[in-house]
Amino acid sequence: MRDDIIEDRSRLLRLQGFLLLKKSHDVIVIGAGPAGATLAYELGKRGIGVLVLEKDKLPRYKCCAGGVTSKAAKLLDFDISEVTEDVIYELSFTFKLGRPYLGQHSQPLIYTVMRDVFDYFLVKRAQQLGAVLMDGQKVTQIQVSADWVEVSTADNIFRSRLVVGADGAYSVVARELGMGRSIEYLVGIESEIVVPEEELAKWKSRVHIDLGCIPGGYAWVFPKRNHLSIGAGCLVSKARYLNRRHQKFLNSLSMG
Ligand SMILES: Cc1cc2nc3c(=O)[nH]c(=O)nc-3n(C[C@H](O)[C@H](O)[C@H](O)COP(=O)(O)OP(=O)(O)OC[C@H]3O[C@@H](n4cnc5c(N)ncnc54)[C@H](O)[C@@H]3O)c2cc1C
Repeated sequence: MRDDIIEDRSRLLRLQGFLLLKKSHDVIVIGAGPAGATLAYELGKRGIGVLVLEKDKLPRYKCCAGGVTSKAAKLLDFDISEVTEDVIYELSFTFKLGRPYLGQHSQPLIYTVMRDVFDYFLVKRAQQLGAVLMDGQKVTQIQVSADWVEVSTADNIFRSRLVVGADGAYSVVARELGMGRSIEYLVGIESEIVVPEEELAKWKSRVHIDLGCIPGGYAWVFPKRNHLSIGAGCLVSKARYLNRRHQKFLNSLSMG
């Protein structure tokens, strides 16, 4: 029974891929993160046909502090309040967990979001303008010929004259085209921590960042609607310190 379902699904995917091949897309965007989704949206606005290929099934969790700067939010021509977790007016900075420096502003500085919700919201905006999303399609190979760029996934081969790699830090597109080899990567660790309401209230509208506690990086607290995203990131070359220093940062916040 289960084999039949898998076989049917695989046939359906092949048929879907065939139909998509027949209906050619002006642009294939690989990756449905904020870069891919907003590009698909902008192309859709201009009447350009887009196929978005995403390796994960959406919506998908992503390890991220989820801070959208107000400058970035202004680049969008639609409102993001329905997917906003908190609005940040205050920044506090410490150096090596020392005395905090506070900065306040009368206008929003940052909107916090959960990336599963936010990224999916952006993709849906692009779909409303005609972009076709195929999720669960991990791109494995790119082949460039004189007339086409051919994009392979496990189930399908797609073709377009224009392919955009928006597949994030470990981009297959960049790898296939021999780019980005000299980049030093960053690693991050984050905890989504549910705290009592009184504790959450202390962090409302405030992002906190420590510089210096994490060698080659920094640590953060980003408030969300019902919890705190507390994390740290650093250069891969300093990653050996990350777990211990992240724990030290957590302890310094005295949340019990
Ligand atoms: C711990 C941490 C905290 C961060 N906090 C912030 C923050 O607060 N504010 C901020 O602005 N930035 C933050 N960033 C950076 C932010 O996450 C990235 O800048 C942002 O995600 C880049 O968007 P993107 O669309 O280019 O790539 P991504 O968001 O990485 O999206 C790439 C998409 O491509 C898909 N994909 C990958 N490979 C393939 C493949 N082979 N085939 C098909 N699809 C594929 C992925 O599944 C993903 O959906 C943080 C990063 C980390 C690691």
